[in-house]
Amino acid sequence: SKVPSLTLNNGVAMPQLGFGVWQVSDDEAVRAVATALEAGYRSIDTAAVYENETGTGRAVAASGIPREEIFLTTKLWNSDHGYDRALRAFDASLDRLGTDYVDLYLMHWPVPRRDTYVDTWRAFEKILSDGRARAVGVSNFLPEHLDRLVEETSVVPAVNQIELHPQFQQAESRAAHRRHGVVTEAWSPLGQGKGLLTVPAVAAVARKHGRTPAQVVLRWHLQNGNVVIPKSVTPSRIRENIDVFGFELDSDDLAAFAALDEGRRLGPDPSDFG
Ligand code: NAD
Repeated sequence: SKVPSLTLNNGVAMPQLGFGVWQVSDDEAVRAVATALEAGYRSIDTAAVYENETGTGRAVAASGIPREEIFLTTKLWNSDHGYDRALRAFDASLDRLGTDYVDLYLMHWPVPRRDTYVDTWRAFEKILSDGRARAVGVSNFLPEHLDRLVEETSVVPAVNQIELHPQFQQAESRAAHRRHGVVTEAWSPLGQGKGLLTVPAVAAVARKHGRTPAQVVLRWHLQNGNVVIPKSVTPSRIRENIDVFGFELDSDDLAAFAALDEGRRLGPDPSDFG
């Protein structure tokens, strides 16, 4: 199945569906990323703090797929905020990944309590202008953090990667992203595989289409214009999660999903995390 791309605000194309590797060990990442690439994924989402950049990079290199056909994302961890530290942390990530550029470099959290994200963003602008990242973005930024970057710096983030799934639909953030021309990337798109996939309304939509709950949830994201990066280390699920381009949710299905928003996070609150 062919994954469509979205065009980021600097013209770079990003696959709308990728593979996330949070909570995957470095060894396991070699296998899981290899399986994902075989299944047709061409976008991989890792982070310095996941401690699997090495394994991820090895799988990319071993795949034989040309580097330019793979969209590689990694992230700067909170302890490396600040202009100089960020530049050094980026070098270390490239080393571990075994590549001389990433497609997308994200600031993992804003850590507003330390008030370092504007200074840190200037390092991201430098990395971008040096051509060592094809695009730069943020993660877990609230609209107020995004507004401040837009006011005080010259590069608008290409992406904001935020917790987003049918039980936490993030209407305000998505509106802020639209205003600024920022692509919304959904983390924990399957709600971490916990309660969401057994919600009766989700199961009903899945039955109606002869699909799995995970597949209809991913379809909901895609039809909402989100980038999604589902994670699995199970080969059959890795394949299942990319097999979502042969059907469409209709307006009844989308209405059923709209009713599932509980406005409750699974993860930390960005206003006081880090
Ligand atoms: P997810 O929503 O992708 O859920 C993954 C879990 O769902 C799996 O561990 C498995 O238990 C289950 N699952 C996966 N496919 C399934 C299927 N087909 N059927 C049934 N169950 C299935 O959760 P996630 O890993 O938290 O999020 C995805 C990615 O987002 C991460 O790997 C990471 O790359 C990224 N992420 C980023 C941040 C951030 O702060 N920027 C935070 C969390 C996650």
